[in-house]
Amino acid sequence: MSNVEQTLSIIKPDAVERNLDDKIKSVFINKGFKIVKEKKIKLEKEDAEKFYKVHETKPFYNDLCEYLSSGLIVAMVLEKEDAVLANRKLMGATDPKKAEEGTLRKQFGISIDKNSIHGSDSINNSKIEIDFFFKD
Ligand code: UDP
Ligand code: MG
Repeated sequence: MSNVEQTLSIIKPDAVERNLDDKIKSVFINKGFKIVKEKKIKLEKEDAEKFYKVHETKPFYNDLCEYLSSGLIVAMVLEKEDAVLANRKLMGATDPKKAEEGTLRKQFGISIDKNSIHGSDSINNSKIEIDFFFKD
């Protein structure tokens, strides 16, 4: 049975800064994702804090929010069969050093914090995260 899903992807500041956004978008398209919506924006720190609220107790939370709001990002709604899992696989492990060959983080990530890309980790969070960027 078909299970077309949408998931949220963010090209993070380190990748936008290096002009990798078109390259990363073409990877998604070549892997069969449809980019249904997208916008290039700069978040305020308070927006990043809201977005990453699940991590508020983590030691890296403040730096993470500083970082996500430090420059332009590209937020995208990706659509594909089993998009949430397919996107997580294509992204690779959080730490680029541990990411598999062929994954986006392996290819483009600089470090665990500057890992170039975000992707929703569940269908429930994908809905929350898509609403966060594209509600109106
Ligand atoms: N992060 C970090 N240090 C850590 C763990 C995570 O800076 O020790 C950052 C990293 O950029 C990651 C984000 O926090 O992408 C969110 O963490 P999560 O565990 O949700 O990883 P992801 O779902 O992005 O793979
Ligand atoms: Mg996560």
